Amino acid sequence: MREKLFTPGPVEIPERILHSLSDPVIHHRTDEHKERLKKVVEGVRQLVMTGEGDVAILSSSGTGGMEAVVSSLVKGFGKALVVDAGKFGKRWAELCEVFEVPSETLFVERGSPVDPEAILEAVGKDAEIRAVLMTLTETSTGVVHDVKAIGSGLAQWEGLLGVDAISGLVADELRMDEWGVDVCVTGSQKGLMLPPGLGFVVMGSKAKAVLDGRKRSKGSGCYYLDLKKYVASFQKGFDVPFTPAISLIRALEESLEMILDEGMESVWARHARMAQAVRNGCIAMGMKLLATARPSNALTAAFPPTGVDAVDLVATLKKEKGIRIAGGQDELKGKIVRLAHLGACYEEDVLGLIGATETCLLHLGASVEPGSGVAAASASLSQD
Ligand SMILES: *Cc1c(COP(=O)(O)O)cnc(C)c1O
Repeated sequence: MREKLFTPGPVEIPERILHSLSDPVIHHRTDEHKERLKKVVEGVRQLVMTGEGDVAILSSSGTGGMEAVVSSLVKGFGKALVVDAGKFGKRWAELCEVFEVPSETLFVERGSPVDPEAILEAVGKDAEIRAVLMTLTETSTGVVHDVKAIGSGLAQWEGLLGVDAISGLVADELRMDEWGVDVCVTGSQKGLMLPPGLGFVVMGSKAKAVLDGRKRSKGSGCYYLDLKKYVASFQKGFDVPFTPAISLIRALEESLEMILDEGMESVWARHARMAQAVRNGCIAMGMKLLATARPSNALTAAFPPTGVDAVDLVATLKKEKGIRIAGGQDELKGKIVRLAHLGACYEEDVLGLIGATETCLLHLGASVEPGSGVAAASASLSQD
């Protein structure tokens, strides 16, 4: 049985992208590659909605982008305020620890979005805080933070707002320039529908100024992920400091074309429709959403119905249907399931996912009315 991925990374890869991965590997010190790089950088800017942000494309997973931000931008700049609303928010704090960046953590209850006021208050109280590091979508809880409110609240602040949009980008709205996001990180294997292997860091003018003022030398703690190298090479003529992941960058051309042809607002609207159908389907089957507010359109995190074990549900879907969903992480391990509706996810996928989940729940002895999940998802999809 072929496995179908409904996980919050990696996601299903559309055929068009898969085909492009078998294209010849061209040399990277050529006009052809420079043209390609120029084109994909312009495309990434459109995804995150920035006019002139610098884009560094790293050969790493998304975490490499986070590491690059901490090691080459935040380190030496000042103290960081980290929004810890789950496993991925916490990752910023772990990176700060490794790179010896002073940091303070704002703990947020799992399943809740951060209160923008709490961030503004913390920043206002401590002049040493020069960076706020957070996620757009916290993938461990399926909650999307109000980056817009936080960005506008920090508009007059001279520090950096850094956002991990690794799973959120493409599914949940993000407008980097308009919202005042200074640094944005993403990765290839989520909304971009690519295999894992590319990390992206997009830097606005404030972040660029910090980078420009930075001397990289002895003891800086980063070499390969030094963002300054990527920006400098690109500005010299769409060049790269090291051999890039040429095949993935080729596939990125296709992915960006697919997304931008559909249009960002249409892509967001499609994700919102799919997400709503999954949420309604889950609730109708007796599941309880983990998100108490602002559920993400990238994935749904939910507790299984009474009497069903989350680990059993994940395993049964895989074994009986070839459907791979994700379980919980850290303190939520064994307690929740996470169903992604991210990237190339359409009505037939969502109805199939809910239908299969319903059958498995029945096999596991849950008291679910047969057809109730699919009916709720279908009713949701039939609304405009
Ligand atoms: C997936 C994910 C990461 C980690 O990305 P990798 O590509 O596995 O390094 C970080 N943050 C968020 C919000 C994610 O969803």
